[in-house]
Amino acid sequence: MYDFDLFVIGAGSGGVRASRMAAGYGARVGICEEYRVGGTCVIRGCVPKKLLVYASEFGEHFEDAAGFGWDVGERHFDWATLIANKDREIDRLNGLYLQTLRNAGVTLLNGRGRLKSPHEIEISGKDGNRTVTADKILIATGGWPTMPDIPGIEHAITSNEAFHLPRLPDRIAVVGGGYIALEFACIFHGLGSQVVQLYRGEQILRGFDRDVRNALADALRGKGLDLRVETNVTAIEKNGDALVLALTDGSNLEVDAVMFATGRAPNTRGLGLAEVGVALDDKGGVVVDEYSRSSVENIYAVGDVTDRIALTPVAIKEGAAVAATLFGDKPTRVDYRDVPSAVFSQPTVATVGLTEDEARAEYGDVDVYISRFRPMKYTLPGREERALMKLVVDRASDRVVGAHMVGPDAAEIIQGVAIALKCGATKAQFDATVAIHPSSAEEFVLMREPVPQQVAAQ
Ligand code: NDP
Repeated sequence: MYDFDLFVIGAGSGGVRASRMAAGYGARVGICEEYRVGGTCVIRGCVPKKLLVYASEFGEHFEDAAGFGWDVGERHFDWATLIANKDREIDRLNGLYLQTLRNAGVTLLNGRGRLKSPHEIEISGKDGNRTVTADKILIATGGWPTMPDIPGIEHAITSNEAFHLPRLPDRIAVVGGGYIALEFACIFHGLGSQVVQLYRGEQILRGFDRDVRNALADALRGKGLDLRVETNVTAIEKNGDALVLALTDGSNLEVDAVMFATGRAPNTRGLGLAEVGVALDDKGGVVVDEYSRSSVENIYAVGDVTDRIALTPVAIKEGAAVAATLFGDKPTRVDYRDVPSAVFSQPTVATVGLTEDEARAEYGDVDVYISRFRPMKYTLPGREERALMKLVVDRASDRVVGAHMVGPDAAEIIQGVAIALKCGATKAQFDATVAIHPSSAEEFVLMREPVPQQVAAQ
């Protein structure tokens, strides 16, 4: 008899969901965590990031208020207050997660887990080591930021440290052109830092729709963010309190801090996985089948540690699916089609389904609808920033196969559109939907004329 029916290593989004659902099905469940319960999303990711995004949006709100007749007076921003308030909220959420596990009857062990055999986990914590046994094991240890191996990289920070900087840097360089780089470049810019964003490729957000990528880059530059593409950092040197970055274009850039957001890698090191026969891919991610089962029959893995789609809601669905499969008598696979996501840059990007290029490759003939407009709330303040909305439609079936937006509330709007795509909605059904007026979202049901083919195909 094992100590547990299921033992989970890592109490983040995927691990917590799997453990409490498994317990709900009647399983005896244990979970270990070496840091704080909640994982990347709650402790050093989505949640604190979004709080910082809210903080950084106020600068523009105050500016725009004048256009509506408000006299906001002198403004002052205090980084220490923001960080302290953010930390208090994270403490509160951490407490809620602990309570959730307790209420579900899950046994939490503090410490780092390591497999000793396919059914034995050694947990080393402050109070020493102990070994527990389990029938099924779930690896849910998430991911960790990676940085290139360049001279002086020890002076750089990642998003982990950005949440705890002692003060707001006057000048910061952000390296990378993905989700995290864009979100933090905008946070620092909005809070008043002088930001240079450096991206090695020809356009930010590789993998996103090209109109979205161009629209976001234009909007960022329009706000005064110094976005430099085809530029990378080759070395970092400390010069007193400042850092001097050597750039690929031969120039030097002096800043007070440099943050690398150059990707995240699955957190599998030191877990003893390879030793017990769990196959890992070339990035160190656990190789799993469609039920999240690894190459070892009783060992499963969910979330970022599997290097599938690194998003919290996906990890949660994977965790729930494993619990249902193992203990709910309901083999469940996660459906990875039409997973929506948002980049909380300013303006926000949100997207679901295929990019125009992907849709052309998959369906051949597609119609593309684009709307670019100045959101109403920018008219009185005289803000020139424009929003972009784009629909990609498979001509043969009339199904909307991609929806993309850059602009205020994009995440809130695309979440609703994602339901329509999941239901296989056609363009005719979008057109038959009555608009909510006045809103930005209504543009998605008011786009009548496709972009002429030769323009669309450029
Ligand atoms: P991404 O993969 O999104 O972006 C990494 C960026 O770093 C890319 O622009 C990449 O360039 C660049 N890069 C990689 N290696 C180097 C290098 N050696 N030198 C210079 N640049 C480099 O990773 P993130 O770290 O931003 O985020 C990780 C994942 O976390 C995301 O993919 C996403 O799934 C998830 N996430 C989701 C969020 C959300 O939902 N809002 C928020 C934050 C993270 P290139 O394009 O050329 O490869």
